[in-house]
Amino acid sequence: MDQPYTPTRLLFEGRYRKFVRDLPQTVFFCPKCRGRGCNTCDGYGKLTKDSIQELVARVAMPRFKARRNKFHGAGREDMDVRMLGTGRLFVFEMQKAKRNTVDLEDLAAEVTRRSEGRIEIFDLKLCDRKRVVEIKETHCAKEYQARVRFEEGAEVDFDAAAKVLDDLVSQDRFDIVQKTPQRVAHRRADMDRVRWIKITAWERDGNDLMVSILSQHGTYIKEAISSDDGRSQPSLSSLLGAPCTCVELDVLAILDPDPDPNPESAT
Ligand SMILES: [Zn+2]
Repeated sequence: MDQPYTPTRLLFEGRYRKFVRDLPQTVFFCPKCRGRGCNTCDGYGKLTKDSIQELVARVAMPRFKARRNKFHGAGREDMDVRMLGTGRLFVFEMQKAKRNTVDLEDLAAEVTRRSEGRIEIFDLKLCDRKRVVEIKETHCAKEYQARVRFEEGAEVDFDAAAKVLDDLVSQDRFDIVQKTPQRVAHRRADMDRVRWIKITAWERDGNDLMVSILSQHGTYIKEAISSDDGRSQPSLSSLLGAPCTCVELDVLAILDPDPDPNPESAT
C-alpha cells in the first residue's frame, strides 16, 4: 500500500557524476557522536564538510522552500572512488516543500557550478516515491578502472604478471567468493557471497597496473584485488602471486540491469 498522499513531500530523480576522491554520497555523520558534535568532529557532527547530498540540498532546499531531505542513491561508491561515465541514478526527497514548480535544468546547472568541478548532476525530473524502491532494487553490473600497486618490498616479476593478466583478459568471467570485508564487517552480516568478475583490459603505468574490471552487482572490488587477508578468493593478489592493493578506483560505467542476477548467497 502506498502511504497517504502528502502534498508537501516532493521528489526528483537525476544522475550524478563525481570527479573527486574526498566526497561521500550522503552526509557523513561523526560515528562517535552521531551528529551531536564532539571533539572528534570539532563540534560539526560530521566528518566531511560536504557530500553530494549537501551540494544538491544547498541549492534545492531554498528553491523548493523545503525543510528536510533524504538522498537515495542507486547504490553508492566509496567516498574515495570517482563516479564517471554516464553517472549514477539518485532520488532527492524533500519534506515540507512549499513550492513544486522549480526549473530543474537551472537547478542542476547551479548545483554543478557551485560544486566547483567536484560533481555534475543532470537529467533531473520530478518523480514519485515508487522510484526510490525501483532504483534501489535494480541490480546492475559495473565497469571499473583500478590503479593496482604491489606491496612495498614484494618481489614483482612484471613479465609473469603480464602473462597472467593477458590470460585473464582472454578468459570468460569467473566467480570469486567474498566474505564480508573487514572494513564493513561492523555494520554488515558476515557471510560468503559469490560474484562474477571479468578482467577486460590492463596496462602498465610505471610500477602500477591499470586494470579494467567488469563485475557483478555487489562485488567488493578493492577486496577482489587485495584479497582482504584471504577473505576474497581468488583475488588479483593470489592470481598474480604477489600482494597488491587498489590505490585508486573509478566507476567507468553502470551497465543496464542484469537480466539474471544471482540471488544473494545468504538465501
Ligand atoms: Zn562527533
